[in-house]
Amino acid sequence: MADQAILVAGGAGYIGSHTVRLLNSEGYRVVVLDNLVYGHRDAIVDDGVEFVEGAVGDKELLVSLFEKYQFAGVIHFAAYAYVGESVTDPLKYYRNNTAEPLTLLEVMSDFGCKSFVFSSTCATYGEPQKLPLTEDHPQNPVSPYGKSKLMVEWILDDCDHAWGLKSAALRYFNASGCSTDGKIGEDHDPETHLIPLVLKAVQGEIPALTVFGTDYPTPDGTCIRDYIHVEDLASAHIAALRKLIDGGDSIRCNLGTGVGISVKEIIDAAEEVTGQKVPVTYGDRRPGDPAQLVADPQMAKDLLDWEAERKDVRTMIETAWQWMSQPHGGHFSQ
Ligand code: UDP
Repeated sequence: MADQAILVAGGAGYIGSHTVRLLNSEGYRVVVLDNLVYGHRDAIVDDGVEFVEGAVGDKELLVSLFEKYQFAGVIHFAAYAYVGESVTDPLKYYRNNTAEPLTLLEVMSDFGCKSFVFSSTCATYGEPQKLPLTEDHPQNPVSPYGKSKLMVEWILDDCDHAWGLKSAALRYFNASGCSTDGKIGEDHDPETHLIPLVLKAVQGEIPALTVFGTDYPTPDGTCIRDYIHVEDLASAHIAALRKLIDGGDSIRCNLGTGVGISVKEIIDAAEEVTGQKVPVTYGDRRPGDPAQLVADPQMAKDLLDWEAERKDVRTMIETAWQWMSQPHGGHFSQ
């Protein structure tokens, strides 16, 4: 464990930066590669982490990094994740999310590095036919974003078959919350996610939260999601990485809590945490939003000996609120 060098592609992004901190605290030698298109240089806060600005598709750069560090494994977060944008600009998503990792995988193969942890998504399942979602649920993604991720899962299967690459495709549900010590957090531009928008409405950064649809077939009419704390996601990545480096087989599993929370319940919890009213307006459904997405988390327990520790959504909101209440307002300066 300690001393092993790990390449974290996209380590300056939201989930990547939290994982980098945990890896570093556990003694790994962490090298972050990030093109800073959506990531933040300031999200790398701990001493000892090496930061390299560059692209996952830059073969020359990758070769020089692999020569220098002899990576024991790679974690890949370097994807674009705006579902709506993927519909209007699919090629941007297929190029960055699907094509660029090919170069990284080629270099891994050349250097005999065979442990790869990949950020996949519950969006690879598409419209749920049965809940909670188990890993054997058909994968029929609706958006180019979901398809761009599923294609990588297929590519990883083929690389396993061809040259023994062992990969963990971790299908995240709704990543949320910020670091418990308040040092880093979520800062997307534009922000589209529910919890930060609810808190921005409380702060007055936006006039109100628009609830997308109140006529879903759910108990309160709003959509239900499975929110998972970003530090729980981080620990799952490290559990998966260890399994692979220790010679385990490839892994495909959900990362969720198994607990479904509605949009209205998030608003109520945010009012409890902040002690303030959330200004709300009610709008139409957002196209492509399923009524419910909830993980069956059992496979992750079985394969990774891991489960989410912070299942109470108030913990996620509290850490996000702590991050956003600082003078920087939840924004990195670079
Ligand atoms: N949502 C909402 N208003 C917003 C943003 C999100 O009502 O301004 C709802 C959205 O319809 C979904 C849930 O909140 O049911 C979570 O959305 P988010 O974009 O955070 O994550 P997603 O589930 O789409 O990955």
